Amino acid sequence: MFCPKCRSEFEPGYTECARCEAELVDELPPPPKPEYNDLATVLVAPNETILMLAKSRLEAEGIPCFTTNNVQDLVSGRIAGYCLAMGPQELQVPAEDAERATAILESISDEEAEEEKQD
Ligand SMILES: [Zn+2]
Repeated sequence: MFCPKCRSEFEPGYTECARCEAELVDELPPPPKPEYNDLATVLVAPNETILMLAKSRLEAEGIPCFTTNNVQDLVSGRIAGYCLAMGPQELQVPAEDAERATAILESISDEEAEEEKQD
């Protein structure tokens, strides 16, 4: 058991932190992502393939990407099936990079259209 406020660990059986009087939780929440406060959604991807394509393209341009679901876990393959079963996912970038990201994403859809013609 853990205290969500001071992150102290307690033996099972305790329900409240002696110091903070906070209700203990089974697992500590993951540490927050501190780097960026303002995120802008630049893409709602209908499936993982498009999401990952867009993500890798933006990261290649030096734009950090965040997704609304656990794509990191998808990459590691642990819960791939679970992620694939989920619906559209949002791709977010820092607000300051949103304009550039949108332009890059538009160029991706152009390339995809080209590839479809070749098939
Ligand atoms: Zn505490």
